[in-house]
Amino acid sequence: MDCHVHYSSPGGPEWIARFTDPLPEISMRAIELTETSLRSGVTTARDVGAPHGVSIRLARAARAGEIRAPNIRAAGTWIAHRGTYVSFARLFEETDELRNAIKTEIEAGADLIKVALAGWNEGARPQDAPDIPFDKKLLAVAVEEAHRAGFKIACHANDPTSCGIAAHAGVDSLEHGMFLEAGDLEVMVKNKTYLVPTMSVWDAMLYYARAVDWPETRKKRAEDLRQGSRAAVTAAIKAGVRIALGTDAGGGAARHGRIAREAELMVECGMEPRHALIAATSSAAALIGESERGTIEEGKIADLVLLDANPLENIGALRLIVDVFQEGRRVA
Ligand SMILES: [Zn+2]
Repeated sequence: MDCHVHYSSPGGPEWIARFTDPLPEISMRAIELTETSLRSGVTTARDVGAPHGVSIRLARAARAGEIRAPNIRAAGTWIAHRGTYVSFARLFEETDELRNAIKTEIEAGADLIKVALAGWNEGARPQDAPDIPFDKKLLAVAVEEAHRAGFKIACHANDPTSCGIAAHAGVDSLEHGMFLEAGDLEVMVKNKTYLVPTMSVWDAMLYYARAVDWPETRKKRAEDLRQGSRAAVTAAIKAGVRIALGTDAGGGAARHGRIAREAELMVECGMEPRHALIAATSSAAALIGESERGTIEEGKIADLVLLDANPLENIGALRLIVDVFQEGRRVA
């Protein structure tokens, strides 16, 4: 299971621009990418943000058996404060607008809510505004609104301020979390908040930094984020934070179909291979709310990935896929 993907973008060096491609292009490509994902062994995926709520339609098509795709849980469109984050998110300024944004996503058919805490975009910050306009109070409103409707809420947090806010907010999962500190991790353990580290993104970013010849400042930033991410994950493992695997394929430079790499990175950060597998199966199932999936047990749905070697000995065995079974049928 991959708890953090975006099928509306293919990843690569220009991943944000790809989200604004013409809608037919996004839609056709998303169908291809879900199949790529399925073939790589992803039988369930959480799509945590798409323009035009494309992920909701994709999830519906997958459920109806119209496309060869993982079982998809879709967040619809990201919810973010106006002036921060991407312009194609669902934007709000006031509390009522935030509540309405959440209700609109639920009404549109989202399976979960995704909010993005982020600093102001350059030039958009009003005088005397807080660093992160989507602050503690607004996030509390979002958590309350989502939970009251019986929906889980995932929160994008990728700078020190937003990591601190998200860790204390009682969200179901904190996405990225490169700047989580010891105190934040302690609260996450207490609140049973999952961390979805998405480490693949930084490795992919560094790859393209070299391949596309990015300016030095951008390369340096990718290196710093990679360092921060690895340190936070290592500390989270030690602190006993619940961790669910997510690649952020499409939402960063990371490509789809490479879930094995994320598991390898977890092991590089000190996780036992067994626990990396748990992060990608039963732990992910618990976060997503898939009680019929995630473990091999009599009576449960038979989503299975057969490998050519033992991943408990070498996690890289996740690359050696022989067969993928979905609901008991061989699909790849
Ligand atoms: Zn993402």
